Amino acid sequence: MTQTPEELRDIIKGTIDGLTSFVESECIPVEQQYRDILKNEARLFGDDGRLVPEILEARDEIRRKSAKAGYWTMFAPESIGGDELPAPVSVHLLEALYRKYGAGHLMIGFSNAFLTTPVISSFVDGPSHMYAQVNETVLTEIVPFLMAGEKTTCFGATEPDAGSDLWNMKCKARKVGDEWVINGTKQWITNSPYADYAVIFAVTNDEKYAKRNMFDSGVTCFIVDTKQPGVDTDTIFPVMGHVSSDCGNVVFEDAKVKEEYILGNLDQGLLSAMAGISEGRLAIASSMVGLAEWALDMSLQYAKERHTFGRPLADRQAIQWMLADSAIEIFNAKYATLRTAELVQEYPSTGRVPIKEISIAKAYAVEMCQAVCDRAIQIHGGMGLSNELGLEEAFRIARTLRIPDGTSEMQRRTIAGQLLRGDTVF
Ligand SMILES: Cc1cc2nc3c(=O)[nH]c(=O)nc-3n(C[C@H](O)[C@H](O)[C@H](O)COP(=O)(O)OP(=O)(O)OC[C@H]3O[C@@H](n4cnc5c(N)ncnc54)[C@H](O)[C@@H]3O)c2cc1C
Repeated sequence: MTQTPEELRDIIKGTIDGLTSFVESECIPVEQQYRDILKNEARLFGDDGRLVPEILEARDEIRRKSAKAGYWTMFAPESIGGDELPAPVSVHLLEALYRKYGAGHLMIGFSNAFLTTPVISSFVDGPSHMYAQVNETVLTEIVPFLMAGEKTTCFGATEPDAGSDLWNMKCKARKVGDEWVINGTKQWITNSPYADYAVIFAVTNDEKYAKRNMFDSGVTCFIVDTKQPGVDTDTIFPVMGHVSSDCGNVVFEDAKVKEEYILGNLDQGLLSAMAGISEGRLAIASSMVGLAEWALDMSLQYAKERHTFGRPLADRQAIQWMLADSAIEIFNAKYATLRTAELVQEYPSTGRVPIKEISIAKAYAVEMCQAVCDRAIQIHGGMGLSNELGLEEAFRIARTLRIPDGTSEMQRRTIAGQLLRGDTVF
């Protein structure tokens, strides 16, 4: 459904107002209730690296409430019961969320250790455009639980020898009778310790896979119950400055999956993967714009309040230039991201997937946010490094996000590839 600009503006405002009030009434009080645990990782994680039960239950409860209130699934396809709000709404919403709350809110948005949010579903942990075409079994047996926020997924593409290079996968599925038998290891999988289902990619046709054709890759996407025999999610990795994280391994040893649990089409799994990853890249870019704005807001306030040598920091040209550089970069990233979202929204009429633009937005916004947070820390002096303000966490989030959903180098590879193929329109 296409909206008029006025309708879109109203949807954006209504969604931001609604979500903010949801966060204020459902997330902030929970963060206050568990403040002592959330601020102390020795108490936040158990010996097995998983969140302690009360925090896990609190996050699960927020997700279920968000689903009931309609926020969890607002970007999911209408065909599975979502609102399918257009991409520009997502950009404005994530920007507003991160500008208001900043970093380190485990009950609201992602922290460095938790790269998903319990309030809005992403392709990683819940309903997304990857479910636009699902068969009856998945639609009736799995999707309702994902839509209700009662169960979550993880997205398993990366392997020990296949990160940037997804043409080096070792994970294979072989048809035995009417079942597929999966063997292999998926690595660095966000939400793997908690996911009820792993949405994973395995080679099903070696011949096709050797030809490296994205559209008919010989890779198939399966939805696998993580509690079933032959699936192990015990390994969890500590991530950048944290004692644990929500990233781990999903290991398959003769895990059996029925044909009906294929997502999308047989041998065309990389198309599903790219649909999810593209959505994720735009969401990351939007969040980075909001997080950078939050860091700049903090910098402006501090520069006005903090005096050195008898004058506020804000009077010094060295500080002003840092503020201005951040503003220039935020403006550029914001409008690159918004324009990309418009191109995504226009896809049904143009038939053009903005491949280059999605990569530009992701690479630029993440690198921009890291630079803005770095300047914000510098402007705050010693305070910038204190754990209290959240600036160091914001810096680490931005730094972390230069790797997942395609590294900065892979985005540049994609951009250059498109340019060389003749896609030079800006
Ligand atoms: C916090 C976090 C969460 C993640 N979540 C998920 C998830 O939920 N699901 C999932 O499937 N994966 C996930 N990943 C994996 C992530 O997508 C990969 O780490 C990423 O794609 C890079 O792969 P790699 O780590 O194997 O690095 P490599 O591919 O080995 O790359 C190493 C370095 O070399 C560079 N490089 C590689 N090839 C080239 C080239 N041709 N030209 C120039 N430079 C090159 C890379 O940019 C990088 O800097 C996550 C990773 C992290 C850190």
